[in-house]
Amino acid sequence: MILVLAAPSGAGKTTLAHALVEHRTDVEFSLSATTRPPRPGEQHDEDYHFVDDAGFDRLLADGELLEWAMVHGRRYGTMRAGVEAALAAGRHVVLDIDVQGAQRVRRSLPDAGLVFILPPSAAEMLRRLRTRGSEGPEELKTRMRTALAELDAVSGFDHVIINAEFGEALAEIESILDGSAPTQDDAEIAAVLERLRADIDDIIQRGI
Ligand code: 5GP
Repeated sequence: MILVLAAPSGAGKTTLAHALVEHRTDVEFSLSATTRPPRPGEQHDEDYHFVDDAGFDRLLADGELLEWAMVHGRRYGTMRAGVEAALAAGRHVVLDIDVQGAQRVRRSLPDAGLVFILPPSAAEMLRRLRTRGSEGPEELKTRMRTALAELDAVSGFDHVIINAEFGEALAEIESILDGSAPTQDDAEIAAVLERLRADIDDIIQRGI
């Protein structure tokens, strides 16, 4: 199965994706290419396939990307070969990509499972972004604005997971892979979404 995890920044998506791959031998992580420079501690071909603009252009021209998107001014794309190799080896493959990318995967690979991960609250989302420490106040504000727009895409996803308790969120993702996902509590998701929108809006108005 191709499992796509998408979420606003600060929802804990990347940590969940990495934990999933560590936890299970039948799941592979899809390594993306990006023109974003590495953050401290990030390794080439481990966290991303880091390329310059010309390198990304080449990947595009050679048809090596399954999808790509511009996120916060940098290009990111899913490497077709990695996804195909994992599937050929009989493994699930997890894509940690942005919301636009997920929507594109839906169009080109209709059988992919699309999971939207929500942070439990706007305050927690901001706290996670600050802990990462790689964005200044203006960048944080941009990410909060982008998050508001991304929340509007939730209805196009197959599953929504509220990442309040890490172990529970991980177990939910595993149950989706295993085809035993519990029925979603739509009322709870609607309530979390409504509160998130109001609180993110408030944070943007008040300033970060
Ligand atoms: P970051 O720079 O924080 O690692 O990632 C920024 C955003 O780009 C995240 O939402 C991440 O999931 C997304 N992203 C990473 N790789 C890809 C990709 O291959 N395609 C798309 N569309 N988005 C990606």
